[in-house]
Amino acid sequence: MTLFDDWRRRSPYYDETHQAVAESVRRFVEREISPNIDAWEDARQLPRDLHRKAADAGILGLGYPEEYGGHSQGFDIFHSLTQSEELARPGAGGLTASLMTHGIGLPPVLAMGSDEMKRRIAPAVLAGDKIIALGITEPSGGSDVANLNTRAERVGNKYVVNGSKMFITSGMRADYVTLAVRTGGAGMAGISLLLIEADMPGFTRTPLEKMGWHCSDTAALYFDNVEVPPENLIGPENAGFMGIMQNFNGERLGMAHGACAFARVCLEEAIAYAKDRQTFGKPLVGHQSIRIKLADMERQIWATQAWVDQCAWQVRQGKARPADFAMLKVQATRMLEAVAREAAQVLGGASYLKGAKIERIYREVRVNAIGGGSEEIMLDLAGRQLYGK
Ligand SMILES: Cc1cc2nc3c(=O)[nH]c(=O)nc-3n(C[C@H](O)[C@H](O)[C@H](O)COP(=O)(O)OP(=O)(O)OC[C@H]3O[C@@H](n4cnc5c(N)ncnc54)[C@H](O)[C@@H]3O)c2cc1C
Repeated sequence: MTLFDDWRRRSPYYDETHQAVAESVRRFVEREISPNIDAWEDARQLPRDLHRKAADAGILGLGYPEEYGGHSQGFDIFHSLTQSEELARPGAGGLTASLMTHGIGLPPVLAMGSDEMKRRIAPAVLAGDKIIALGITEPSGGSDVANLNTRAERVGNKYVVNGSKMFITSGMRADYVTLAVRTGGAGMAGISLLLIEADMPGFTRTPLEKMGWHCSDTAALYFDNVEVPPENLIGPENAGFMGIMQNFNGERLGMAHGACAFARVCLEEAIAYAKDRQTFGKPLVGHQSIRIKLADMERQIWATQAWVDQCAWQVRQGKARPADFAMLKVQATRMLEAVAREAAQVLGGASYLKGAKIERIYREVRVNAIGGGSEEIMLDLAGRQLYGK
């Protein structure tokens, strides 16, 4: 164990079964990911083969039902958190975003889809043979989900989809897209979820270049009279909004936990550098102001991790409130922003060089504060739920 993970040993939520998951995922990361991550960042995408290898290692299926090829017996939410923490070790957020996109694309299918759809889609996704993405955000905006514009008209025995989506993770490589569409009138009561298949005529996409998450392909999706059979409707017509909202809770908890993990990567790098680098005749860590910086980083990580773990425990106990996930995500991404900044200060010029983990994490802070719900929207949502009535 290192500074990166020894905190789990002192937490009431983790035991030796979580440590076993950590060690198994770490071996996979060291073998399959760390030697290649820089090349994948340059290539702007992950190889498909990685999905299959991750499935074989039990990573894609952790926490999903056994009947679809997942592994859920004996696992709880803390095993999933442990896994994503280990996946964060290479310090590349795009890896988790893209390799684990099924974490946002598949849950609506499993929660609301027909048995036929679940049997058709889930095993192939959890085996790493197919990639599924989630398409909610539109060029006109992602915050105001209830007012999305992509339309699915019922024409004869088909839905005909027209519109576009923006910033869709794994959008270029996706075989399936869980797509939010308007099937009814204005507002949240007119939204449904439809499963789009990549080979449907009229569905096209273009890649988007980004500040960070380089190994995660991100796309704009276009739908021009795409005909979708009614059996691809996920859940009842016009009942999609609730599915979208429930999905956000897990995504926000995962992002908050990821922020703690990336902050720990920053801290670990900063400590190692501070012990090694000599200035004014002693190691950096010999200067009081640097030690204070390091302790201040650790303080913020601990406070946030404690809240992440408490929210995860509330999920396990069925006591979770959406407002907590929203506020937690803001707390975690602001914490990461502060820690990444201070770690960069400790490394000085070395933090600014391509290839440094901190250089990459520093760039990725922004997407964490926006994706999955921006700070303003998160705090407004919490405020309305807690005090608005
Ligand atoms: C790399 C990346 C990957 C992504 N992956 C996906 C994905 O896989 N699937 C998907 O559906 N989406 C995805 N997104 C989209 C993401 O969820 C949206 O960017 C986010 O929800 C914000 O939407 P927007 O960018 O359209 O900003 P807008 O909604 O246009 O808002 C712009 C700014 O104004 C603020 N704002 C908006 N309304 C208010 C208000 N009422 N009061 C105060 N402030 C307000 C917002 O907080 C934001 O800061 C991704 C985004 C990125 C950058």
